[in-house]
Amino acid sequence: MFELPLSSALLERARAVIPGGVNSPVRAFAAVQGDPPFMVRGQGAYLYDVDGNRYLDLIGSWGPLILGHAHPEILEEIIAVMRRGTSFGCPTEAEVLYAEELCAAHPVLEQVRLCSSGTEATMHAIRLARGATGRDGIVKLDGCYHGAHDAVLVAAGSGVVTFAQPGSPGIPSAVAGLTRTAPYNDLDTVRAHLEKGDVAAVILEAVPGNMGCIVPEPGYLQGLRDLTRQHGSLLIIDEVMTGFRLSRGGACQLFDIDADLVCLGKIVGGGMPLAAFGGKAEIMARLSPVGPVYQAGTLSGNPVAVAAGRATLARLTDDVYAHLAATADEIDRRLRPLVQGRDLSLSRVGSMFTIFFRPTPPRCFRDVKECDMKAFGRFHRQALSQGIYLPPSQYEAVFLPAILEPADVDHLISGLDAALQAVVGSAA
Ligand SMILES: *Cc1c(COP(=O)(O)O)cnc(C)c1O
Repeated sequence: MFELPLSSALLERARAVIPGGVNSPVRAFAAVQGDPPFMVRGQGAYLYDVDGNRYLDLIGSWGPLILGHAHPEILEEIIAVMRRGTSFGCPTEAEVLYAEELCAAHPVLEQVRLCSSGTEATMHAIRLARGATGRDGIVKLDGCYHGAHDAVLVAAGSGVVTFAQPGSPGIPSAVAGLTRTAPYNDLDTVRAHLEKGDVAAVILEAVPGNMGCIVPEPGYLQGLRDLTRQHGSLLIIDEVMTGFRLSRGGACQLFDIDADLVCLGKIVGGGMPLAAFGGKAEIMARLSPVGPVYQAGTLSGNPVAVAAGRATLARLTDDVYAHLAATADEIDRRLRPLVQGRDLSLSRVGSMFTIFFRPTPPRCFRDVKECDMKAFGRFHRQALSQGIYLPPSQYEAVFLPAILEPADVDHLISGLDAALQAVVGSAA
């Protein structure tokens, strides 16, 4: 007789052959003291696990699946392309069309280069900024995430902003020392770093989602633009999460930011491994083979990923964005009193939001660290038992899909209310 393929049995086997049983750490549920369900299928706004449970999916593969899982027309387009081959390592027409579409959609992009992950996009954008300015330093904001490479896995050493600490063993201190950190929503620390004159670029998530959703204060983003210009540094907006989510032109369109370079990922790959970086043509001209700054990728711009990205973007019409905005507003209107009535806080920008287990919305990473993480963990487990798949950490944001129907929204509100009720009691 076969054993049932339950999530817990799979987890045990996984842990024997994969560190922690997962291929990306946050999936392990360590931050919420739980065990992750193993998924077999996604359809529309829902995920299905090996034990037959169904979840309203509020992460959408961490952002890409703005149109839900297994969209039939998108799948057809990917399959049609795949029948003609999966990768050539040679130029294709679809890459040209996609670059034209990306440049037309995003206000900062004059030229763009495709790669395969957000990590690659920020790594290459930072190298390009260093190559273009001839400077080595970068400024990164505490709590922003730009992928898993050395330059950006650095957090501020408790208040000692001049002594950056490596965020992970294995990162040489010589590399970490080139990354200066500053709190989000604070211009003074950034100014002090820039005044030293050795900063190639300031890189940030214009709306951070990787420390939970944080709202930029009025004037902050423009302040960073003005300061970087004044000191000859470039401004890199990492739109891997916000690109094509906060608007067609991302955070740069929403907040009118004239960045030098932007990084895209997640939605632009439509659920396949594809990302991009680009910006002013003058800077992009420094890139190999035109210029001296080297960058490459065997599977970059492969036909399958390009087809998934193009098929997704082609369906992100004004109507879809209007529906997403209306859904997010409706959820906010109904959820906010349930959260605030329990002395918790809700931060939201468009279709990204986080319920924080602290009474006031955080302004920066330090504030987020004050949240009641244990209570968040209990809330997460309760939500899961209500059939709602939240991001498994207080340091993450919900990404709403643009396909929610009124019944899904009702389910979301009643499920989260029941979960909050179980953890912190009734709303006042
Ligand atoms: C997810 C993310 C990345 C990293 O992208 P990967 O494809 O996971 O390498 C970089 N920056 C931001 C803002 C992200 O949200």
